[in-house]
Amino acid sequence: MYGVPPDAPALAIVDLDGVLADVRGRLGHIESGRKDWDAFFAAIPADPPLAEGFAVVERLRADGHEIVVVTGRPERTRADTEQWLERNGLPRVRVLMRRDGDRRPARQVKRGIVRRLAAGRTIAVVVDDDPAVCDELEAGGWPVFRAEWMDRAAPLHRAQESDGRT
Ligand SMILES: [Mg+2]
Repeated sequence: MYGVPPDAPALAIVDLDGVLADVRGRLGHIESGRKDWDAFFAAIPADPPLAEGFAVVERLRADGHEIVVVTGRPERTRADTEQWLERNGLPRVRVLMRRDGDRRPARQVKRGIVRRLAAGRTIAVVVDDDPAVCDELEAGGWPVFRAEWMDRAAPLHRAQESDGRT
């Protein structure tokens, strides 16, 4: 593909919520009754990092892969998200996000992003914790690593599937 050097490293696509960021402290905003997405996103800066996820990133980098963070979070959270990544040791990493107002399920959003990234670049692996996202990408033939180190994410995945909000 034009503009891509032939020796460009393979891409390792890494999800954020439930893989690098522990969102359990803010799931209460979307778990029951009226979902408060603004409060859910406003609490992003307080997410603790997930050591397992950062260890995976370190390993993927050691293998020579280029990390790209692909998240269902909307673009309006970009500043908080990039500051969080920088604070946790991933400055200047490429971050691809959901467009504001895009209400499609996360699996559709991510399938589209992965397809675009795959044009001209090899995808070494996609790391995600959402079973629906993993199933969709595996069905598309992508190599998937299922992150299973943050439990209690089911309410988030249900919300992603039905509301397409993150
Ligand atoms: Mg996730």
